[in-house]
Amino acid sequence: MARQPVRRSSKPGLVVVGGTRANRALGAVWLVGAGPGDPDLLTFRAFNALRAADVVVHDGLVSDEILDLAPSRARRINVAKRKSRHTLPQDDINQLIVALALDGLNVVRLKGGDPFLFGRGGEELAACREAGVECHVVPGVTAALAASAGAGAPLTHRGAAQAVTFVTGHAAHGEPDLDWVSLARPNQTVVVYMGVSTAGLIAERLTAAGRAGSTPALVVENASRADERRILTTLSGLAEAAQGVKGPALLMVGESMAMADTVPVIDPISQTALFERSSRS
Ligand code: SAH
Repeated sequence: MARQPVRRSSKPGLVVVGGTRANRALGAVWLVGAGPGDPDLLTFRAFNALRAADVVVHDGLVSDEILDLAPSRARRINVAKRKSRHTLPQDDINQLIVALALDGLNVVRLKGGDPFLFGRGGEELAACREAGVECHVVPGVTAALAASAGAGAPLTHRGAAQAVTFVTGHAAHGEPDLDWVSLARPNQTVVVYMGVSTAGLIAERLTAAGRAGSTPALVVENASRADERRILTTLSGLAEAAQGVKGPALLMVGESMAMADTVPVIDPISQTALFERSSRS
């Protein structure tokens, strides 16, 4: 793919795009990770990018509390209207953000979790590069990190989990295309994104490849949100545990998941109160 030069800003990292629209020929695109839901888990860089947005192009998973951080004058465009089950095709999203930036706007493309982890951020970055549009990527807290922290179940743990692998359970061709033999080795954590509907199949394949049915497994729905729910089970019980899950959820399989506390370690709602209390003492 021909790669055209990208305009670099003089300040690497965070750029508060200055100037008025009139003296800015080209806008820029910011691919911003919004984190798993709780606004507390936004990075400062994401916050600053939002504050400087002319337009916010966001997914359905991004909460109103986070969208409210953008200036009220900033236009909001939801590209995943979940109610009508209508999602703008990826190519259209690519074209939209490029067109808005070419129109001189500072575009924040806000995505759940991290833009480069099952977020299709790479395609949007490539589209910007191809069009010669300045594009910055702001990392976000991916769902797995929030789910693990909330449960008090580390993704790696001395003696129990030497590695962690993030995989997608999405089945484009009937079943997820994964290396079951390597995922079935013990002492590692496998985190499955988009795996609720294929949970039974995933458990079956992992077990057939040699992972013990007694391996601890944790299902975390709505990590970091007020309605977060955790179900601690085993690989054999994974399919049953995934039944009835409606919100975004992760399947986490591995020895260290046995440490999971099903009562929140940090209740996202009371977290701010916790900080306030410790700053007073
Ligand atoms: N870029 C995102 C992942 C997008 S793919 C990230 O880094 O987190 C969408 C999948 O992410 C969902 O199907 C679900 O598996 C997971 N996910 C997103 N938000 C979540 C949350 N708050 N709790 C649990 N899983 C979540």
